[in-house]
Amino acid sequence: MHPLLQGFADLLRPPVWEWFALLVGMLVGSFANVCIYRIPAGLSVVSPRSRCPGCASEIRSLDNIPVLSWLALLGRCRVCRRRISARYPAVEAANGLVYMGLALRLGPTLPAALAMAFATLLLILSLIDLDHHLLPNVLTLPGIVFGLVASLLREPPSPLEATLAALGGYLALALIARAAEWYYGEEALGQGDWKMVAMLGAFLGAKPTLLAVLLGSFCGAVLGLSLVALGTGSRRTRLPLGTFLGLGGLATLLAGPALLNWYGSFFLG
Ligand SMILES: [Zn+2]
Repeated sequence: MHPLLQGFADLLRPPVWEWFALLVGMLVGSFANVCIYRIPAGLSVVSPRSRCPGCASEIRSLDNIPVLSWLALLGRCRVCRRRISARYPAVEAANGLVYMGLALRLGPTLPAALAMAFATLLLILSLIDLDHHLLPNVLTLPGIVFGLVASLLREPPSPLEATLAALGGYLALALIARAAEWYYGEEALGQGDWKMVAMLGAFLGAKPTLLAVLLGSFCGAVLGLSLVALGTGSRRTRLPLGTFLGLGGLATLLAGPALLNWYGSFFLG
């Protein structure tokens, strides 16, 4: 290895590695905010620089530091004092903490870097689905390819398992969707959901994907029933499945093996 690269690798040993991951995670989280806002609108995620939606003034670099700037400005635009949603720093902090969790679990490794990229993709899809009930192809399709390529770079899952899990996930969701459509007489699961499950399958493999879907559906069902119980929702309230698939996927990335062992212990132990 080149001495410079080796020096960099030495620098990234624990505990520096975990803090480095937190920092990078918050910066990438800031970019995730841009993606969540611009991709559904069909805008470029690269340019122009972000502007305040209130007064259209460009956001200075100093006011664009993840989490800290929002806190320093007390959640308001420096120029027009318009409120800036707390969701921006929340997304930055969440992405940072997920990166830190993955750094702790997987160490300074290629699998960790791949899992971080995938986690951010899940976070972006979750929030776009929450906002727009939409899972854009420009994210899910490259996401499937990313999962398959990742299977060539590290295991598990093997390339064969990744491919089969992607296909199986897609077909299973398509079948459930058809059955639900026949039963309810309306579309229940959009094709975006099928592709998102295929994406999970390609990156995680079969068992962890099943876990992610179960966790996500469980959270969705609990929230849906709570809304009905509170009288703020009806049985016809549409909850974005993609948001819950994303959360299930993130939980599986962070704690998958432990959860699978725990879950398996009910059947084997
Ligand atoms: Zn402003």
